[in-house]
Amino acid sequence: MIEKRLIITVDGPAGSGKSTVSKILAERISYMYLDTGLLYRAVAYAAMQRGISVEDDEALRKLCEGINIPFETDNGNMKVLIDGEDVSDSVRTEEIGMLASSVSAVSAVRDTLLQPQRNAGRYGGIVAEGRDMGTVVFPDADIKFFLDADPDERARRRYAQLMENGVNVDLSAIKRGLEARDYQDTQREVAPLKPAGDSVIIDTTGIDVDRVIEKMTIMVEKHARKVGS
Ligand code: C5P
Repeated sequence: MIEKRLIITVDGPAGSGKSTVSKILAERISYMYLDTGLLYRAVAYAAMQRGISVEDDEALRKLCEGINIPFETDNGNMKVLIDGEDVSDSVRTEEIGMLASSVSAVSAVRDTLLQPQRNAGRYGGIVAEGRDMGTVVFPDADIKFFLDADPDERARRRYAQLMENGVNVDLSAIKRGLEARDYQDTQREVAPLKPAGDSVIIDTTGIDVDRVIEKMTIMVEKHARKVGS
């Protein structure tokens, strides 16, 4: 257990392995796990439910003004509610992922989610995962990781994950979807996906989850010893 309550950020593209490792790392060091993609997915879901187009910035701004998106971490799993309904599982589809990528390019959406994310990290002791954790949400984080992997491997991982969950998908369609999402996420004007200048970049291609976590844990322990002494 790490005594010092650090802020650890994990950014990277879809399928880089960041969700899996962030969750396990948080559990291992008894930190809170914050999955910020889930919040953008919840906004996309709310827009879809209300028939709002993800191209309509003004309608999305109004939606954000009137919406409450409570979230909590329950036993290491993050849960998010829309209109009182737990949508945490239903938003984890490729379709909502793509819609989330579109709504997340709208500054009113990002502004709405900024403070709740920062609040979650106000006492430290958090592993925050997303696209702009180290660059925008927690620019002064103690440790910043940026995970990446070869696009083919990322597509294969996502494919395996979906098949395991009983979702029948086509590998080439998954790859095209990831590429489109990466393009949108890296090219948008607000908070584009990119490594923070002071982040540790880990290429997870061909590396199994345990080794990535081991590498991260060693760095976290080293850092905690440094700030603790
Ligand atoms: O990580 P996940 O695949 O759940 O994220 C869905 C989408 O939400 C991403 O493709 C990205 O566009 C957006 N997102 C973001 N900033 C974050 C987390 C997610 O823009 N911090």
